[in-house]
Parts: sequence; structure tokens; C-alpha cells
Amino acid sequence: MKKALVCGAGGFIGSHLVKRLKKEGYWVRGVDLKYPEFSDSAADEFQIHDLREQPNCERAVITREGGPFDEVYQLAADMGGMGFIHAAECEIMRNSSLVNIHMTDASARTGVKRYFFSSSACVYRDMEPEEPELSEEAAYPALPDNEYGWEKLYAERMAMAYGRRFGMVIRLARFQNTYGPEGTWRGGREKAPAALCRKIAEIKDGGTIEIWGDGTAMRAYTYIDDLLDGIYLLMQSGLEDGVNIGRQEYVSVNELVRVIAEVAGKEVHVKHIEGPVGVKARNFRHDRISAIGWESRFSLRDGIGRTYPWVKAQGEAARRAEQTS
Ligand code: NAD
Repeated sequence: MKKALVCGAGGFIGSHLVKRLKKEGYWVRGVDLKYPEFSDSAADEFQIHDLREQPNCERAVITREGGPFDEVYQLAADMGGMGFIHAAECEIMRNSSLVNIHMTDASARTGVKRYFFSSSACVYRDMEPEEPELSEEAAYPALPDNEYGWEKLYAERMAMAYGRRFGMVIRLARFQNTYGPEGTWRGGREKAPAALCRKIAEIKDGGTIEIWGDGTAMRAYTYIDDLLDGIYLLMQSGLEDGVNIGRQEYVSVNELVRVIAEVAGKEVHVKHIEGPVGVKARNFRHDRISAIGWESRFSLRDGIGRTYPWVKAQGEAARRAEQTS
């Protein structure tokens, strides 16, 4: 039985990844600062560690039997939506770099065979909406739009350097915006799809929500199950260097609002306000991940159809809890 360590297993993607690896027959240890918020972890063992500390990384990468894990999936990061990325530049650069430095080093020195790093579409430069899709090499010459993207590029390079020196197989995925049930939906770290689901769930039919900017920024959103398919295929594959994973269905933020409103069955008015908007557009090629058999299975409408009811139920449960407390 293969043994996998999932770092960031208390978070959105990490907790789903643990479930997926269990289905694939792995023995899994999860590690995070916290347990998953919305369901029990499916991990065989869950350790609470601050991975900014080297000794904690060294403890985490050793199995109960005293050997290295077969596979390490590094998803732990100080992470949030665009508001958080702009407000917490220093925390992101410090905390996520420390986690990546120590976890890459501990994994390589312990003899981990395969190391997965969750990078981001934020490593690419800003784009115009109609620009041709970028392939992975276009991350260089580098010009990420925000410090989160620079930290990811540095961590990618560090993983590759350790891979070369220690013979550790490195797999680097650059995720696009990913959403789905059991993701952060309030509190300041939530990303656009969850934030908009929450706002639309909270208003009456015909009500108004506020969104940052004019709503014309173009994005592609990936449903969690599609992303997990990509992570799993990539880790089993021979694909080296950065690999984009994401659905090629480009929509404006205004269109995203329209899809959520349709799923909610509400008429929604939008008030555009000042706020951090991020890049104008992101258009990527997906030839590399497609070449190993990946295909998106969930349209934005399908994914929102599964995510909106979950966010709505969370909001209702939170309101009931407030009333009874
Ligand atoms: P998340 O915030 O839900 O999960 C990250 C987890 O890392 C959290 O549970 C957090 O507690 C943990 N963590 C942070 N600092 C830690 C530390 N010092 N020690 C131990 N654990 C720590 O975020 P997510 O959406 O699940 O993202 C997972 C990974 O994927 C991140 O690396 C993120 O940058 C990357 N990514 C996500 C998206 C997306 O749209 N969700 C897009 C691109 C890249």
C-alpha cells in the first residue's frame, strides 16, 4: 500500500485530496495547523503541526515505520481570495516560503520519492481578455501580478532544485481558481465563487449585492473534482516542470454572478464598488495535462449547482446558531 503525506490537509483542496487518495487505496497522513472545518478528515492519521518549523516538517515526513513517505503532496499555504492576497502580502511571503523551504528540504533529505507542489495560475503575468492562451513556458520572463505568485514561482524553483540534487521526482501543478463544497465561504479568505454564493444566498429575490470592480475581469473556474483528477493523473505521470490544471471556460465576474443567480433562482442586481480586482484576464493552454488524459467533467453551471446549496446551507446553519446562542 502506498503511503502519502498531505500537507494542508485541514484546508479546502487538501481535505478533498485526502478523500481522493483514500479511494485510490493509499494510507494517508494529513498534516495542518488545524483539522478540516466542515467534515471529519478521511486520513488514517492526522497530525497538527506548524510546518513553518523545520523540526515539525522532519517529524511529518517520517512514517510510523520510520521510513520516508512514498509521496508528499504540499498544499499548505497562507492563502485566501484577492482581498487577502492584497492585504497580507508579508504574511503570504513569509509563512508560505517557510513552509515550502522546510518541507521541500525535509522531504528530499528523508528520501521521499515523489513530491507534489501546488502552484498557481498567479505565477503568470496580467493578460488582455482576447490574448491567445499562454503555455507553461510563458511564466518566464517572470512578471506575476502579486507577491503570492512570486512566492509560488520561488517555491517551484526550489522544489526543482532539490529534485535535481536529491533525485526526488517533482510534480508541479499550477491550479486555476478552484471552488466547490467545503471551501472557505466567509471570514475574509474566501474566493470569488464562494463569496458570491454567500452574498446571493443572503439576499431576497430582486436584491442587490456589491462586487469589487466593474465585473469585466475574465476568469476560468475549476470544480474541485476536476482538479483532483488532474492532481492524481499528474502525480502518476512523467510530466516534468509546471503543468496548468483548469477548465477552459472563460467568464467575466458579471457572468459568474449570473450563473449563481440562475442556480439560486433569484433576480440579482449588482452594485460595483472599489476593491482589489486582480488581473484583467487569464487564458491558459492545457495541452500538457490533456496529453495525460485529463478532461474537465464539470461545467461552471454544474459546479455551481453543487456548490451554491452547500454555501446556502452553511449560512442558514450559522444564522440558526447565532440565534440560539
Ligand atoms: P486553504 O487555505 O483551504 O488550505 C491551505 C491549508 O494550509 C490551510 O488548512 C492552512 O491551515 C494550512 N496551513 C497554512 N499555514 C500552515 C502552516 N504553517 N503549517 C501547517 N499548515 C498550514 O487553501 P486551498 O484553497 O485548499 O489551497 C491549497 C493549495 O492550493 C495552496 O497552496 C494554494 O496556494 C493552492 N492554490 C489554490 C487555489 C484555489 O483556487 N483554491 C488556486 C491556486 C493555487
